[in-house]
Amino acid sequence: MGYRVERQVAVEAVRQACHLCESVRASLISQGTIAKADRSPVTVADFGAQAVVNLALRIAFPDDPIMAEEDAAFLRTSSGAALRASLCRHVRAVVPGVADDTVLSAIDQGAWEGGPAGRYWALDPIDGTKGFLRGEQYAIALALIEDGEVVLGVLGCPNLPADPSYPDGRKGCLFSAVNGHGATMQWIDDSTVRKITVTEITDPTAASFCESVEDSHSSHRNAARVASLLGMAAPPLRIDSQCKYAVLARGDVSVYLRLPTQADYEEKNWDHAAGWIIVKEAGGEVSDVQGQPLDFSLGRTLRRNRGVVATNGRLHAHVIAALGRVLGSG
Ligand code: AMP
Ligand code: MG
Repeated sequence: MGYRVERQVAVEAVRQACHLCESVRASLISQGTIAKADRSPVTVADFGAQAVVNLALRIAFPDDPIMAEEDAAFLRTSSGAALRASLCRHVRAVVPGVADDTVLSAIDQGAWEGGPAGRYWALDPIDGTKGFLRGEQYAIALALIEDGEVVLGVLGCPNLPADPSYPDGRKGCLFSAVNGHGATMQWIDDSTVRKITVTEITDPTAASFCESVEDSHSSHRNAARVASLLGMAAPPLRIDSQCKYAVLARGDVSVYLRLPTQADYEEKNWDHAAGWIIVKEAGGEVSDVQGQPLDFSLGRTLRRNRGVVATNGRLHAHVIAALGRVLGSG
């Protein structure tokens, strides 16, 4: 398989980050969170996951740049000292012996701006920080992008049940996909993989959809209007993070709607790259709300796209047509 080593390294890095996040979550204390400019909570786990993944990538692929969400500026200040100490303790639990400076410089290695040429990794160390803090869904999302095309993606979903019919059953799923080689799911702690595919539903009235928990990230009202036009009667599955791409890829739902809530919001590259390839390789389709392909070649954001629609492929045209009516009519 192409990208065999890259996939192996990425899966192992995400697995380590999942362990770090779960151990932080188990001991989550209020001092572990600070406010970001956009006020979304950032935790020691967010920085820790970025440190762990960047350290692994730096060893395996020293020439590959990394685009990641966080930087270590706050951690270098005196008011960040307590967080830094806690962060480095957690990182050393999965990467024994690593020095504080190495942890901070690894975090700062995520400043790559991306663009149309060359190869780089895109990382969201914790996608769905709000879900993480609520004890619900979150994901560690890592993708490899070459000349503006996503070629590999890994999603670690530490709190996601394997079987949606048993929400209290065993949790912790890891998804991965390589361009042209399909998508797989495995337990985080088990390397036995199984192939996943999207549903085969062609009748929208038989379909169900997922969307963000946060109404400010995706308009629940417009999604309800689309659902009503299509006769999708089942209530939406609301979950945080790129776990939405994962549950679509393995067939729990047939549609994922991410409908703009503000005219000027630009979707972030790392919020979609890994999920995009996992859904595509599971047989699904992903576009923006107008049916345009997502353009990962423009840097840190998908500035030419508006919102995101992902489906099992068979339903894509139906959903885009319904969206045209809903968004076209305001
Ligand atoms: P989700 O868990 O699907 O609601 O998505 C979480 C991601 O939403 C975060 O990683 C943010 O980057 C992103 N986000 C923040 N503000 C917005 C917004 N106004 N519209 C869409 N996504 C947003
Ligand atoms: Mg995110």
